[in-house]
Amino acid sequence: MPGGVPLVEPPSLASVHAFVDLDDLDSAMAAGHGGYRRFGNPSVRRLEEALSALEGYGLHDPPACRVTSSGQAALLLAISTLVGPGRRRVVLLRPCYGGSESLLTGPLAALGVEPVIVDLPPPGAVGRQLEQVRKVLTPEVACVVAEAIGNPLMGVLDLPGLVELCRSAGAATVIDNTFATPFLLRPLELGADLVVESLSKQLSGHADVLGGAVAMRAGHPAAELLAAHSRFLGAVMAPFDAFLSLRGLRTAGLRVQRAAAGAAALAELATGHPAVAAVHYPGSRSPEEEALAAPLLPWGRGSMLALDLGGRKRADLLLRSLPEIRLAPSLGDVATTVSHPGVSSHRGLSPAQRRSLGIGEGLLRFSVGIEEIADLTGELRAALDIVAATMGPASK
Ligand code: PLP
Repeated sequence: MPGGVPLVEPPSLASVHAFVDLDDLDSAMAAGHGGYRRFGNPSVRRLEEALSALEGYGLHDPPACRVTSSGQAALLLAISTLVGPGRRRVVLLRPCYGGSESLLTGPLAALGVEPVIVDLPPPGAVGRQLEQVRKVLTPEVACVVAEAIGNPLMGVLDLPGLVELCRSAGAATVIDNTFATPFLLRPLELGADLVVESLSKQLSGHADVLGGAVAMRAGHPAAELLAAHSRFLGAVMAPFDAFLSLRGLRTAGLRVQRAAAGAAALAELATGHPAVAAVHYPGSRSPEEEALAAPLLPWGRGSMLALDLGGRKRADLLLRSLPEIRLAPSLGDVATTVSHPGVSSHRGLSPAQRRSLGIGEGLLRFSVGIEEIADLTGELRAALDIVAATMGPASK
């Protein structure tokens, strides 16, 4: 035996605990953990405490936090705590992850939630972001769901403006912070009511976990429902995934910084390259967008960028010319990956809807990892040169 205590707590896998007598069980039930894993688990609780500390870093009172089996389940849990009689409407700002829209317009609509989809203007036109939202904020709206950095075009949300607008209309704000992470942006500090993260991405960071998290401002009227609904919906996380997520979180701050530096370098390289029709990177499309992004994201613009190659064949040639950067439909690994939103994350939209949102057939979305930045820029430059040499410059 090595002696001492383990420096790292092993995952606590038991799904049921035993009790010595009725009083013992009764007090566990009254405390809300009841000896059953769906009601609470030590490994899961450790992760929830870590995430609460992160999301509530600058706040006096730590937010309530629950982790779930996926980012999708986290959004389901968040919305379930906010809708109710007379408040069945949920506004979703688009473009956003296609699965969020499918959740809202599929199972949630079948259960009586009324989805209202609002298309944002092009990412550079931040001054017009709230115009359409204002028009749909009726008293029946329970919440507005929006991504802090939008998938797949990396639009920067006017978060302070949205919070103020929703507050004046009595609607809650639910911010999907997956692309920014709490290391770069903490929506609760800016007045948002709830924040949702997909832990499957950069926070766990090694492409071996599926998970999600909801953090709710302390004192929010729905705070008690968060714990209750996570049990009743079964929107909980498995302990081994919690263990892996916690291990990922220990290096997440460093990984996020490094990946953000890599993404900035790739965006700079692609800007002005003849093979590229458009670069999508937070703040890059207009001085107005930059003025919004600079104070919101002072520690970095995240690890994501998208390049429009100006056509599917051109995009396909680029993909085939990248020896190390692999084509994968998700994001957030330590290694850089690239996806095609049209065939993966946003394939649920019709081609016309994708076109009107600016999600073209030539759009490739990069999730930057922590490799040597010179290796990444070298690989992308060589691949872009091949596209330009073979197919000519992109029409801008
Ligand atoms: N939110 C965003 C921005 C996403 O990109 C994704 C998945 O890609 C999700 C939520 C859903 O997360 P998960 O795949 O963990 O369910």
